[in-house]
Amino acid sequence: MPSWPEIDYFHANAATARGRLAELEHVAQADWYDLYRHKHDGSLWRVDREDKYQGRFIVRVPSLSDWESFDSSPLEKQLLLSARGGESEDRCLIAGCSAKAIKASAFCLEHTYERGVRK
Ligand SMILES: [Zn+2]
Repeated sequence: MPSWPEIDYFHANAATARGRLAELEHVAQADWYDLYRHKHDGSLWRVDREDKYQGRFIVRVPSLSDWESFDSSPLEKQLLLSARGGESEDRCLIAGCSAKAIKASAFCLEHTYERGVRK
């Protein structure tokens, strides 16, 4: 396994992304994703196709059979939380939600994510 995090943001023009792509071969394509295989260890990595409105991710997927349907949202939430530096001391603004807001957001992790925020 390459020593990459299980999920990361993917910025096509960044050196990190170019370096990773150089170690990968393209395997398949779907509406929203491209699938790559690591040239040396065979691990599978799914990359979001370009989208104007949302950040892109590169995420390790467990198998060829369900690479397209693999639910990466729990990993995306973890990444969002760590990108924000964790929770703040404030409560989420959504009525009835008692969770703490994440830093630089008025909402908790779930409600921030629900609004389409990924970073
Ligand atoms: Zn909330």
